[in-house]
This record gives sequence, C-alpha cells and structure tokens, in this order.
Amino acid sequence: MEQERMFDAETAASLASDPAQRVEKLRREIEHHTYCYYALDAPEISDAAFDSLMAELRALEAAHPELVTPSSPTQRVGGYVGEQFSAVHHARRMYSLDNAMDLDELDAWTQRIVEAVGSAVEFVCELKIDGSSIALTYDAGTLSKAATRGDGVTGEDVTVNMRTVRDVPLRLRDEGVAGLSDADGSVEVRGEVYMPKASFEALNAAAVANEKAPFANPRNAAAGSLRQKDPAVTKNRDLSTFVYAIADEASVKARTQWELLSWLRASGFHVNPDVKLCVTPADVRAFCESVADKRAVLPYEIDGVVVKVNSFATQRELGFTAKAPRWAIAYKFPPEEKTTVLRAISVQVGRTGAVTPVAELDPVRVAGSTVARATLHNLDEVHRKDVRVGDTVIVRKAGDVIPEVLGPVLSLRPEGAQSWRMPESCPSCSSPLVREEGEAAFRCVSMDCPAQALERLLHWASRGAMDIDGMGEEIVARLVESGRVRDVVDYYTLTDYELATLDMGRVNKEGEPIHLGGTLAAKLIAAIEASKARPLARVLFGLGIRHVGKTVAEQLAAAFPRMELLMQADEEQLASVDGVGSVIAQSVRAFFSNEDNRDVVHRLERMGVRMEDDAADDAAPQTLAGVTFVLTGSLVESGMTRDEAGARLKAMGAKVSSSVSKKTGYVVAGEAAGSKYDKAVSLGVPVLSEADLLRLLAAGSLEEAGIEAPSR
Ligand code: AMP
Repeated sequence: MEQERMFDAETAASLASDPAQRVEKLRREIEHHTYCYYALDAPEISDAAFDSLMAELRALEAAHPELVTPSSPTQRVGGYVGEQFSAVHHARRMYSLDNAMDLDELDAWTQRIVEAVGSAVEFVCELKIDGSSIALTYDAGTLSKAATRGDGVTGEDVTVNMRTVRDVPLRLRDEGVAGLSDADGSVEVRGEVYMPKASFEALNAAAVANEKAPFANPRNAAAGSLRQKDPAVTKNRDLSTFVYAIADEASVKARTQWELLSWLRASGFHVNPDVKLCVTPADVRAFCESVADKRAVLPYEIDGVVVKVNSFATQRELGFTAKAPRWAIAYKFPPEEKTTVLRAISVQVGRTGAVTPVAELDPVRVAGSTVARATLHNLDEVHRKDVRVGDTVIVRKAGDVIPEVLGPVLSLRPEGAQSWRMPESCPSCSSPLVREEGEAAFRCVSMDCPAQALERLLHWASRGAMDIDGMGEEIVARLVESGRVRDVVDYYTLTDYELATLDMGRVNKEGEPIHLGGTLAAKLIAAIEASKARPLARVLFGLGIRHVGKTVAEQLAAAFPRMELLMQADEEQLASVDGVGSVIAQSVRAFFSNEDNRDVVHRLERMGVRMEDDAADDAAPQTLAGVTFVLTGSLVESGMTRDEAGARLKAMGAKVSSSVSKKTGYVVAGEAAGSKYDKAVSLGVPVLSEADLLRLLAAGSLEEAGIEAPSR
C-alpha cells in the first residue's frame, strides 16, 4: 500500500517525459520479472521492488487511459464472464491420450513404434500433469483467447479467467516471436492448468470451515476455479500452468517436440523442467520408473508420464486414431498404496438397518488425501481379507477415489491378534442383529433404532432427495438426541425459535453453550419450506424404500404421478413399470402395507409436502419422446452430474439408458468419455458434445438446437 501511495497519477505523470515510452518500458520490465518469478522460479528482484514497478505503471495508465492495452500487466483482471461461457470450436481437435497401464504395456508400445518407423526413434518424456487442459491463442504475439478442452471439438471461452493466471504470458517474449513461422500470424499453444497440492489443501480447509463442500481432488479444483463467473475469484485461487504442445506445428519453426519445448520456454511459458529426451525404449522405461519414485515430493499432482515421438515428421507419419495420437502414450502409475495400522473395526448402522464394518485407521496420506476410515463392506469380506485389529494393513484408493483396505502384512501381525467377530447387538439401540438367509449383511431390525433414524433423516434431507440445504449430520444428530425429531415429518413442525436455540453440544471460550443461532435457523426454515415442492420422485427416493434408488423412483413417479395411486398399486401393476422387477415391486408393496409408513406419508401431506406431479400443467413439451440417450464422461463444463443431465432429458420425454446399442439415438460424450464413446463410433451412433447437449436443453428441441434428427 505504501508503494501505491508513492506513485499517485500526478507524480508518475511528471516523472515521465514520454509516457508512452515509459509505459512500454515498465511493461517489458514487469513481464520479464513475472517470467523470472513464475516460469523460471528464479526472481531477480524483491517483491517490494516489483510492486513498485506495478504501482508506477498503474499510476501512469490512470493518468493516460489512452495508453491502456488489454495485454498490459495491469489488466489481468477485467470484465465479467456473464451468464454463460461461450462455446469455442477448436480449429484442431484437442485429443486425449491412449494409456499404458504398466511398464510392460509401455515397452510394447515403444517397440511397436520403433518397428513401425523402421529406424531409431527419439522419444520425449514429460510428466502427465493432473489438471485441466487449456488452449491459449496468441494473435500477433498477444494473448487473444483461452479455451477449455470440452469434448475435444468444442470447448468454452475462459479467456477472462485465464488472464488472471500469472504464469500465462499476456504477450510472447521477443525470442518467442522470432521462432514463429509468421510473426503476425496466430499460434495456439496447449497445456494444463493445475492447482498446487498446498493451495488445494488450503482451499479445501477454508471450504470445510465455511461449511461448503470440498473439492474431491486438485484436478476438479482447477477446473472449478477456471469456471468462475467472477474472474477475481479465479485470481485468488492460485492456479498455475504447464504448457507442452502446439495445435499446429506449422506455426513455429521448431521441428521436434524437444525444440518446441525450448521455444515455449523462450516465449515466456511455464514449461515443466522434468522432461527427458530418450534415444532408446530402455531410457523411456527408466525415466518412468524414476518419476514414480519422485511423485510424492512434487508440489503438484501428476498421474503418469506422457511419452511422445520427438520428430514432428514422424508424428505426421504415425497420425491419429479417432480419439488419440498414435505417436504418444500416457504411462499411468499404478494406484498408490500405503501401509498403516488398523486400530479398530467399528460398525455403522445404515438407514435400512444394514450393519457395515468400518476400518478405523491411523491417518495416512494416499493419492492426494488423508485416509482414516475405509469400509470393509461385510463380515465375509473381513474374513476373506483376514484383517485383524492391530494389523498393519495396505491401503489404496480404488480408481484413486474410494479408499480400500487390500489386506494385512502378515509378517507384522502382533501376537495374539484375534479374528474379528460381528457384535451380537446393534451399537446404537442394543437390539440383537440378525442375518437373513442368503444375505451378506447383518441388520438391526428394530423400528426404534436411533442410528437408523439418523440415517433416514439425513437421507431425506440429502441432495438427491428433498435437498434441505444446511440440514447436515451435526444438526440432525442434535435434533435426534434432543428427542425433538424422530421421523421426517418432524422436520416440518420445527419452528424458527426451536432451531435458533438448538444446543449444539459445544461450548464457547467463556464456557457458555453454543446454539445454532438465528441466521442459520432462518436459512434452515426456508430450506425446509422449499423442500415441500419437490417432485414426487424425490419424495419417493427420500422415503428410503429398499431397492428404490433415484432411477426407480423416477420410473415409478412417471407411471403413478400421485402418491395415492402408487400406494394402492398391487405387485403386478408395479412390476409392469419399466425398470421395476418383482423384487422392487415386492419391496414397494411391503413398504406401503406397513401402517406406520402410510401414516408418515399422510402426515407429510398434511404438512404441505406435495404428493403428486402435475405433469399436465408444467411438463416441458415432450420433443424427445422415443429418443434414447446414453451419457458418458463427465460434464465438466456445466458441472452437471450425469443424473441431472439425464433428468432434464427425461423431462423432455427422452429415455436415458446406460448402455449403447444400435437403438441408441445419441451418445452424449463428456470429458474423458470411455468405452461407450468407442462403441457409439463403431455402431455409427451420433455423438453429441456437452456443448450440443446444453444447446439442446436450452432450445427445447433437436430442430431448434440444429441437431439432426436421429435415424433410429
Ligand atoms: P486423458 O485425459 O487421461 O486421456 O489424458 C490426456 C490429457 O492429459 C490431455 O488432454 C492433457 O490435458 C493431459 N496432459 C497432462 N500433461 C500432459 C503432457 N505433458 N502432454 C500431453 N498431455 C498432457
């Protein structure tokens, strides 16, 4: 702040006899130091000196607004994204990569390449940065556009936000311009935008402190931060980039990947230093092995090594498949495994009474997050794995997300460790646990079990069900313990005052009990009120009927748009509904035959919870009737889950299926679309991008979205 004051507009103006020249000089100086700091990690001046240069530039620009240009370092935040990011059609497709899942597959690939080329081949090995792909276009050396990968063909325009990322040069350095085939032409470079591990953890800690949902991993955090409506938020998120590719190699003089990396560096981009030019497949393998050892100490997440054929001419000869270049492969690391001590096996009671053993572990970091608990599924699984309390166990993350206990390290088993036994009674209500014939799970069958009640209440309030925002585990637990809430109907009888004075079971510094407070109480009351208008399918799902998941609930609600009709339906009628078999039909029948359950439904209705869908009134026009969609990959651009997107398509009359066949109308392929995409291509099923999907949802019909009608 001190520095800023030193350079008010007047002083700065009087200092510069030729302001235009001074402004240009300052910008070059600032760009140079930004480059040293962010791209080279080797600052040449102090932060204070840098701030002072910025302050002078800002002051001069304030005095001479006509000198401000979009590429000035002062313009890293400006503008607003507006309601939606506009679509960007990639002139050259942004491909994904084929994978080698282990070193043998990698060797097989390098050998194949060497054989195909018929002479010695050089390879470039680079780290596979686990972030979000980005394409940066420079016109005549100035950043003009930044776009996400999207589905590879169409991405989103995130220019305003990417300008805030400090290691992205707003102008290419002179050496970079000199390396262009046409200095006034356009060049598109590609790389990865990522969030360092430490920033990711700080962001998640702040999210948790503010009772917001944390990001699952740094990759999602980077993608989410890039898609902020307000670029000032992106600016505060500590994003960085590593740039490693070019859309069209004809736009630079470089003739190999190795030369390209030098050019990128010289142009001012942040290029990862861990790269290696390899002349034999054995070198490639050795590099991959060495990186696996180093992974844990890198300050950012990587999920493998990308191996590329060095020569552009050879790359051209090898070409592309539909999805990926033939001249590159991603060697993926095996899932990270760690050892830790199994301190206890606790049991958790679910809302249907199923009792699940849970491993309580000494906290250990695995693949980017701390693991302290992992489900052991059921008693058979505990015995099959033969894990015992006190054992040192091997933990990994399945699909790098869900923690899993693989098994014990037998040589470290403490003497006398006992095989685990399921408790005989429920840890919550002490009723005896039972195991039904042919079932893996033990259950607490008591109707009065508080643990089950808690889970049922949480399920009712959860996002996929009635979505009572803010009704989380701690509050529900307090409401249950205080005896104020026993079943879901009780939510709707809560008053503002009761919630505001709810004792949270904690004390403040002065030793006084903490209450929920008026602000949160008012929010909760509003959320409870809003939940009364949810569609019937949500109510059905929220009731927690066994075997009735979200999809089945939607099918049932479509067939029986009033609760009363559903409650009266017999097993045969129920089983005739698409997607409902005899097991589900029996379960629904059993649920509504129970007097207590019917009573809950009637009391909810009296409280004002809607028990019907007025399909005729507000249904969207059924323009997609008879058309089947299959969704694959993640819809990173809109942030919708596949379920949400599916529900919106269904609301327009479409059918949503999980497998691709000749009868499929369209496959919607999001990011990282997998085998369903391949199947669609091989069967000739038209593939829609996420951008197409969004257009379709907004336009309301295929015709208006400009999408060709399906041939099937
Ligand atoms: P995948 O999404 O698993 O098919 O992997 C392909 C993606 O890896 C690309 O779209 C890039 O976003 C990303 N990637 C990360 N690092 C690199 C790299 N050094 N070279 C090429 N792609 C990379």
